[in-house]
Amino acid sequence: MDDFSRLREIMVASQLIPRGIKDNRVLEAMRKVPRHLFMPLPLWGVAYEDNALPIGEGQTISQPYMVAVMTELLELAGDERVLEIGTGSGYQAAVLAELAREVYTVERIGSLADNARECLAGLGYTNVVVLTGDGSRGYEEKAPFDRIIITAAAPQVPEIIIGQLKEGGIVVAPVGERFSQIVVKGRKARGVLVEEFQVPCVFVPLVGEYGWKS
Ligand code: SAM
Repeated sequence: MDDFSRLREIMVASQLIPRGIKDNRVLEAMRKVPRHLFMPLPLWGVAYEDNALPIGEGQTISQPYMVAVMTELLELAGDERVLEIGTGSGYQAAVLAELAREVYTVERIGSLADNARECLAGLGYTNVVVLTGDGSRGYEEKAPFDRIIITAAAPQVPEIIIGQLKEGGIVVAPVGERFSQIVVKGRKARGVLVEEFQVPCVFVPLVGEYGWKS
């Protein structure tokens, strides 16, 4: 086991299991995906600490716990088509790619999308497609999706996104004010999203037509 694998074991044992992450497939993916490779080299020494970290362009890679909890809420069994909005570093997309059949991930900032695409390809992920554009509109071309995860803060889950979710599908998103939100899990039943409120969180804003305007 190399040093980074050991740090991932410690991350899972000290940050995820004690806070209630139970899904073994999620824990296994968190043990496996090399989070440090999704961030700039000077940050590798703190890559497995209990924080969100800067990835450039004023954006962040989410805290490991937040990645784990949002992933667990998606209830992935392995055969799903997943849409992620807010690729950022590509780390969450890699965790999703370990647990689902196909992942489409959309990032509005071209340089971040390029880095994420390169990193995911370098690690051999062939079931992730990284797209550049305004993900607040979703990705109509490949809809409907079994699961949708928004990893940037939105005032609410955009209606257009709910329209791209299959009946019975799950959406997970940080929803609320600009500087404080709650992770919401919604299941689509008879065309309507039935929502449960989960953990408080702080995400960078979803900027776009159906998010914040700037
Ligand atoms: N999931 C990411 C990861 O694993 O590193 C972290 C996402 S970061 C907290 C939020 C990302 O959402 C930023 O990279 C930001 O540029 C992106 N974003 C914001 N608004 C967006 C939009 N309308 N469409 C696509 N991406 C957006």
